[in-house]
Amino acid sequence: MLNKEIAEQFYAIADILEMLNVAWKPIAYRKAARTIENLEKDIADIYAKGGLAALQELSGIGEAIALKISQYIETGKIPEFEDIRKKLPSGLAKLLDIDSVGPKRAAVLHKKLKICSIKDLKKAISKNKIAKLDGFGEKSQKNIALGLELLEKGKSRFLLDEAIPIADKIVSILKKVPGVEHAMPAGSTRRWKESIGDLDILAISNTPKKVMDVFTTMPFVDRILANGETKSMVILKNGLQADVRVVGKKAFGAALNYFTGNVDHNVALRRIAIEKGYKLSEYGLFDRKTNKYVAGRTEEELYKKLGLYYIEPELRENRGELSASAKNKLPDLIKPSDIRGDFHMHTKYSDGVSTIELMATRAQKLGYEYMAISDHSATRANAHGMEIERLVKQISEIKTLQKKFRIKIFTASEVDILGNGELDYPDEILKKLDIAIGSVHSGFKSEENKMTDRICTALENKYIDVLGHPTGRLINKRNPYAVDLKKVFDTASRNNKIIEINAHPARLDLKDEHILLAKQFGLKFAINTDAHSPEQLGLMKYGVHTARRGWLEAKDVVNTLPLASLPRIFKRIKL
Ligand SMILES: [Zn+2]
Ligand SMILES: [Zn+2]
Repeated sequence: MLNKEIAEQFYAIADILEMLNVAWKPIAYRKAARTIENLEKDIADIYAKGGLAALQELSGIGEAIALKISQYIETGKIPEFEDIRKKLPSGLAKLLDIDSVGPKRAAVLHKKLKICSIKDLKKAISKNKIAKLDGFGEKSQKNIALGLELLEKGKSRFLLDEAIPIADKIVSILKKVPGVEHAMPAGSTRRWKESIGDLDILAISNTPKKVMDVFTTMPFVDRILANGETKSMVILKNGLQADVRVVGKKAFGAALNYFTGNVDHNVALRRIAIEKGYKLSEYGLFDRKTNKYVAGRTEEELYKKLGLYYIEPELRENRGELSASAKNKLPDLIKPSDIRGDFHMHTKYSDGVSTIELMATRAQKLGYEYMAISDHSATRANAHGMEIERLVKQISEIKTLQKKFRIKIFTASEVDILGNGELDYPDEILKKLDIAIGSVHSGFKSEENKMTDRICTALENKYIDVLGHPTGRLINKRNPYAVDLKKVFDTASRNNKIIEINAHPARLDLKDEHILLAKQFGLKFAINTDAHSPEQLGLMKYGVHTARRGWLEAKDVVNTLPLASLPRIFKRIKL
């Protein structure tokens, strides 16, 4: 049921509005929250049956609040919530970004300790004030301090799903400027690095001034750092820096290569150029003796002149891609279009926001051949984990729904790996499921050997098929837990288990280097979205590009297989 979550969102909105000194609205939101909290029926059902009108029949829920409820049911987000956050004094809004400080706690810190900024928060921690606060305590203070540290480290970096859509938007704006022949992102965005420091965009145009004018006056520009003839830099309203350079046709490939990086790749490439009697710069490839232009229109041309096969941007980290290219040993990287299904997603049976039917409708629309519904197991009480009876009910609902769909819907579970390595459902239940994903959701601060044993014990269970988000990290928010991945991969490989690449941009777990390591153990991977709404099924591309950064080919990834081949991999799947 979504009731509790939506109520929490409204309480949080009320808290924030109160911090903003907004008058009567917080009362209205709290009233609505109480109504929803105390509803006996599932609010998503009420909405599904009667639409906005049915929501407005509930006490304390008017048109505006009904709309917000519908937004949450459909997308898992309330846009206004994001907007009012932006209205908070920036110091206070930043508190909300800290792991273990939500709006509720931020409001208490603000009210009781007059904390208005990160600086105030640090001071309060140093004076041990938070530990003494009602409902907080020593442990909370320590966790807030840890969250703060992590935030500071990653504070200027953006997740891929924040950066990539903006880069695409800027590119499409620039492409419409008269005289622009081409525009595209370079930098870490083009390499799909797991987090992005700033956007670098390149364009070809014979009227650069026009490009600069359009770029610096886009509605989402906050301030201009530099506005030159062929290069401008701005800070966008969300805090992300974006740079645009206009270059000539002859230099475009060289500039693209230079600004795509990474630096180590570029340095190594320049060294190769020198060995071959050339000089490579952002302006092109030149003969070292005569200074004559040799190449630079396209990257393909550059690599070719240097005796290399084209190297995909995701590989450019100086991790052996140059020597592999020289020997024609580059991997044939997996592509988003290779994906035929998604094995990890949640519905409102646990903490997802949608129904099985809507998830299947979307997955089918994506052109998938198969999908698995993998809600949380019983122990995940705070994620509405499912008791066995509800799981059984879900299995039968899937069987009924299947008749309506072309896409094959597998029954599955994201079953908790408990502290001792046992699984949260007994074998006779797991046996009934097509697929089981084992995940760690607790005890993140355990010692390395304890966590390693816990995961390896779970991998010895014959009913586990996939190890979910194997390191438990949340980018910029929560460090991975301490675990000996070599031991985990070795155990997984001996037991024929599949390793997940969780595609959620906040996770991207496994990350690139660990994918490379896992591949050495001969492991197979599943790229899953872990979607909690139909919309989030679209996050798949972030996982695929992360897999590409880990040198994976389609044959390494089980969800590129046609449906008919799955029984070879998943022992309980029968078609
Ligand atoms: Zn999980
Ligand atoms: Zn999940």
